[in-house]
Amino acid sequence: CGIIGIIGTESVAPRMVDALKRLEYRGYDSAGVATLEDGKLDRRRAEGKLVNLEKVLASNPLGGTIGIGHTRWATHGAPTENNAHPHFVGGVAVVHNGIIENFAALRSELRAKGITFHSETDTETVAALISTLIAEGADPVAAMREAVKRFEGAYAIAVMVEGEGGMLLAARHGPPLAIGHGNGEMFLGSDSVALAPFTDRITYLEDGDWAVVTADTATIYDGSGAAVTRLETRSQVMA
Ligand code: GLU
Repeated sequence: CGIIGIIGTESVAPRMVDALKRLEYRGYDSAGVATLEDGKLDRRRAEGKLVNLEKVLASNPLGGTIGIGHTRWATHGAPTENNAHPHFVGGVAVVHNGIIENFAALRSELRAKGITFHSETDTETVAALISTLIAEGADPVAAMREAVKRFEGAYAIAVMVEGEGGMLLAARHGPPLAIGHGNGEMFLGSDSVALAPFTDRITYLEDGDWAVVTADTATIYDGSGAAVTRLETRSQVMA
């Protein structure tokens, strides 16, 4: 129910937990964070309150300066650790708010291509589709462009790809998703409240938009794949 993404210059796991706390007001039943360190994906997830995730991270810390995180309000699959986001398929990590309405059809299609699913969530089909497109030869940006054409329903998603330590991908169709512009750092978040500790320079994606975010650039495209300009605003939210 809440999303955070950070391409930063310092350890991101604690920063992501802080941002997720600011999204607690939206409600959630489980939480998780993933980072890329030395090109490798890793994650920590926990049922229940963020304090549970903090305990897991305290005993088993997660390094890395790029990451995505999530508080989940389960719609498809019980609120277990195994169904908690981020979901990983074939080197693609995804956090997602909302519902992919056509997930059952996508799952059958991807199973026929040899993908094994490990959760009961609709979200895992997002990671599976993007990783399949990459395996079939698309680069991650092209895979994102093709994937968003296939999703039906309401979604805000953030994507991180193994081996792509300088880039996050994002898409919005329904639930809000904001890009936060930092100083040599870039952020994704469900709203400016989540991003207030990091920056007050906010660009909201519009419905149908998707974006490629690096440490110092955010390139936004509409559903047709055309690059678009979206207004950057100053958030009034206090950190
Ligand atoms: N539909 C997804 C799930 O059940 C995302 C729910 C959410 O918005 O947190 O895992």
